Amino acid sequence: MIRPDAELLLQITDLHARVEDQPILKGVNLEIRAGEIHAVMGRNGSGKSTLSKVLAGHPSYRVTSGSVRYRGEDLLALPPEERARMGVFLGFQYPIEIPGVSNLEFLRVATNARRGQKGQEELDTFAFEDLVNERLKVVQMDPAFLERSVNEGFSGGEKKRNEILQMALLEPLVAILDETDSGLDIDALRIVAGGVNQLATADNATLLITHYQRLLEVITPDYVHVMAAGRILRTGGKELALELEERGYDWVDEELAALELSENARTPLEVA
Ligand code: ADP
Ligand code: MG
Repeated sequence: MIRPDAELLLQITDLHARVEDQPILKGVNLEIRAGEIHAVMGRNGSGKSTLSKVLAGHPSYRVTSGSVRYRGEDLLALPPEERARMGVFLGFQYPIEIPGVSNLEFLRVATNARRGQKGQEELDTFAFEDLVNERLKVVQMDPAFLERSVNEGFSGGEKKRNEILQMALLEPLVAILDETDSGLDIDALRIVAGGVNQLATADNATLLITHYQRLLEVITPDYVHVMAAGRILRTGGKELALELEERGYDWVDEELAALELSENARTPLEVA
């Protein structure tokens, strides 16, 4: 839902970032307000996961210029755990397994850290079980998954559901979901998408990173951004996703080539 007067939650300005000294993000601009659902689409290797990891504060990704403001504050100055506590959530493309750490306890500690930041009281084991049992319904997950180690031996679909369960408990203001649809069969996709839809409110925002239009048939984005070679090449409404599905990504390559050509042509003049 687009409301021009809604709070500006995330403001990314001319963001450049490197991995292993390789420039990957080359000037990303994006503004996300409360109540909005944004989709970022693009070919493999266009920098989508890099953007999500930079926002979450992954230590391997180095921001070289540009800024990210979260509710007016400098997000990049905060350590990753502080970003999470303040309500920035990243659902991973490849959720990691943490053998030996109980899923229930992991979720409880994370939830209490977030609640503390919001000025809510900590939940003890019993109170937390009530909350988690209620939130399990959002992703139609079996309580047996709480007794296991975090993601250990979970199928791809179960891992993605566990990510959405985390999101349901943490109640982030900005949820970044990186390829939450990848590896899901159609039933799991419906459940995961249903969870995301249930969790979207007028006060929070969702950034869906996806390769495919099929996720966007079940979650309707307010904006679709096409990413190519580390920047957002074009922004449109939900119809842009359909256009991509029909025309493929070839036109993106053409637009990108034209852009790079004009930039290269401009550079010597600017130097002179
Ligand atoms: P996408 O999610 O759009 O598929 P990524 O952000 O994962 O794209 O990757 C963008 C580019 O950055 C790719 O060329 C990829 O090989 C490179 N890259 C990403 N992470 C690393 C890393 N840890 N080390 C080296 N190169 C990386
Ligand atoms: Mg990716």
